[in-house]
Amino acid sequence: MDLGIRGKKALVCASSKGLGRGCAEALAAEGVNLVMNARGVEMLEATAAEIRARHGVEVVTVAADVTTPEGQAAVIAAAEGADILVNNAGGPPPGMWTDWDRADFIKALDANMLTPIALIKALVPAMMERGWGRVVNITSQSVKAPIPQLGLSNSARAGLTGYVAGTARQVAPFGVTINNLLPGSHDTDRIVALEKSISATQGITMEQARKDRTGGIPAQRYGTIEEFGAACAFLCSDKAGFIVGQNILLDGGGVNATL
Ligand code: NAP
Repeated sequence: MDLGIRGKKALVCASSKGLGRGCAEALAAEGVNLVMNARGVEMLEATAAEIRARHGVEVVTVAADVTTPEGQAAVIAAAEGADILVNNAGGPPPGMWTDWDRADFIKALDANMLTPIALIKALVPAMMERGWGRVVNITSQSVKAPIPQLGLSNSARAGLTGYVAGTARQVAPFGVTINNLLPGSHDTDRIVALEKSISATQGITMEQARKDRTGGIPAQRYGTIEEFGAACAFLCSDKAGFIVGQNILLDGGGVNATL
């Protein structure tokens, strides 16, 4: 299927690896020119070079912390005229509900709620003027089913979800869609780090830690960044203009709910 977005321009935040990279790759495969971002220069440049070579699209890199005002200004400047925005950043640390004070919440809200909102506010008006735009926010399955030790993430992502629900309906008349993709467990470095910590605290092998975790997923495996990227590219496509303000779970059936 031709997704109808060849030659368009996308800003994909936090995309040197993991889910963001999956989205960048899938968009590049559809002929979309990219602005890619991450804090670490080396991996960002290496990933950008691979994508240029594989897909022949233009890739501009912005090495910056997208959760800071300076980082946001840098990606916004590079993304002038962008038709597509994929919001992503690292997730907040785990802990107990009693651990977190105001400063921890402000940090989580900055990263996972206020940063995507700032980028939406910066880039969507021009999309509305042109009559076409796509925004996809990478959130988490924790929006539908809380992960108790990720209280900061549960809170910040729920806040973004509420903002998107209303805003998506305000911009839809102008040809701009905003939707959220909710990853369950995907095979990224973040999950490997989690397995390492489980293996150390429970005294089990990494293989066992993975088996225990995937065993709880009906699909009996983690998702891949390619699968995630394909879903993102479809939401960013010309075919997806009637999908507005939705929260789409990609979790192998992990969230046990009828609706
Ligand atoms: P990952 O494999 O660790 O990749 C994170 C990417 O984001 C890297 O390119 C990293 O590069 C970049 N990044 C992190 N913080 C950044 C910042 N402040 N500014 C700019 N770039 C930044 O992580 P992932 O698994 O893809 O997760 C991506 C998001 O999805 C996270 O918010 C995570 O909580 C959420 N999520 C993931 C899963 C999963 O199963 N993987 C499930 C649910 C939710 P640098 O470190 O160089 O900046």
